[in-house]
Amino acid sequence: MSSEYKVPGQSGLVLAEELLWEKGRKGRSGASIPASKVPSAKLPAGLEGPGPDWPDLAEHQVARHYTRLSTWNFGVDTGTYPLGSCTMKYNPKINEELAGLPGFAKAHPLLPSEAVQGELQIIHELERFLAEIVGLEAASLQPGAGAHGELCGMLLIAAHHRHNKQKRTKVLMPDTAHGTNPASAAMCGFSEIKVPLGPKGYLEYATVEKLMNDEVAGLMVTNPNTLGLFETELVKINEMIHRRGGLVYGDGANLNAVMGRADLGKLGIDVVHYNTHKTLSTPHGGGGPGAGPVAVGKTLTPYLPGPRVVRKEDGGYEWNEDLPLSIGRMHAFHGQFRVLVRAYAYVLTMGAMLKDASELAVLNANYVKEKLKDLYDLPFPQHCMHECVFTNALQEPGKISTLDIAKRLIDLGFHPPTIYFPLVVHSAIMIEPTETESKEELDAFIAGMRQVALEARNTPDLLREAPTRTVRRRLDDVAAARRPVLTGDMK
Ligand SMILES: *Cc1c(COP(=O)(O)O)cnc(C)c1O
Repeated sequence: MSSEYKVPGQSGLVLAEELLWEKGRKGRSGASIPASKVPSAKLPAGLEGPGPDWPDLAEHQVARHYTRLSTWNFGVDTGTYPLGSCTMKYNPKINEELAGLPGFAKAHPLLPSEAVQGELQIIHELERFLAEIVGLEAASLQPGAGAHGELCGMLLIAAHHRHNKQKRTKVLMPDTAHGTNPASAAMCGFSEIKVPLGPKGYLEYATVEKLMNDEVAGLMVTNPNTLGLFETELVKINEMIHRRGGLVYGDGANLNAVMGRADLGKLGIDVVHYNTHKTLSTPHGGGGPGAGPVAVGKTLTPYLPGPRVVRKEDGGYEWNEDLPLSIGRMHAFHGQFRVLVRAYAYVLTMGAMLKDASELAVLNANYVKEKLKDLYDLPFPQHCMHECVFTNALQEPGKISTLDIAKRLIDLGFHPPTIYFPLVVHSAIMIEPTETESKEELDAFIAGMRQVALEARNTPDLLREAPTRTVRRRLDDVAAARRPVLTGDMK
């Protein structure tokens, strides 16, 4: 296998690069300015003094510095990016181009409706597309990220209970929930009741049923869940939640597994967020921007954020501000508009093929799972959705950690999968190949993973010392986050 699929890791011309402060030499400059005839003057009080200690650099030093740093970067345009829970799929460049059209890029958010009819049409139609893909009633594009969509959804649920004069202060949440779920619930004033998953990795009806009472506003559930498993008892669970006056929030971060395939309305979901930067063609990993639109069923439609775009009788579009039950604005202006243009372009170009994308994402994850399960521990061996979760249990007796496995993969030229998440799985290795990887790319990644498992047995020091072929070795990432050193002053 490894003879057929070569690992891409090479170390050739990966160039070391110092900090700009280490490269600078007094008096060096990127510009030649003729001597000035204007006499020098003293700066006003308060502005004098030495100023920041910028390094003196020539133009080519600056150009090389940033170009070299850019070659240290890794992204979906560089190679397979199997980061579980993140859906790092390849995004078609045509969607970038469309989002960059001057009519979108230069439109001012305060332009009158008559001048931005095209933009309003996109907002109106994308809301309809998003609702339709998940089988719900309406949508709002305002939230700026997945977590912001959660906040919006929980505000909608709170508004519904307030409107019905219900005092419900708690929210049920599986113990695998993404960290943003309890945080969003808490920001709406709800406290969290943790629901343990059953031994097979699903939510079980009996467990949820025991915890549901008239103090509970609802359930926040991720489906497929963060173990990459479809929640098989969800219909029954959601019926019970509704019978007892609660509502159901669907965390849609894993929608890439079920686009056009699961009717969330029929599953009993009242509100769900999309992560456009995971599912709908906005690149992510660099810190944004993304968007977190929400789609809702009939019960929550009246509370959606406003104002909302409506279609007039003459076919044009306008803003409707007359929404008496609306929770109000979630975002300045109209949300992350150009992120939404990418999503619009992606949905229009894919059409019914969105279903195929989900099918391929699920197929690819199951392929990787089947090809690795003889060498890595697979705690939940059933059919998975778009991602699969392994652990280092077979390597742990040889004192090889999940981190060692991840770091060795870097030496072989692969971005590691997500590690140590979800927290309920000890030393998890979570792989999400996505639909955009070809069979050859998957086979190369599988060959890399298999090589690492064999090395863990035969040459474990290779793993413990990894990565050896990168510009930096193992960094102290905790210290880097807690005490970041952002200038040349390393002391
Ligand atoms: C990514 C993710 C979120 C949060 O989304 P952001 O867009 O990063 O705010 C929430 N839940 C799950 C399961 C996720 O994977």
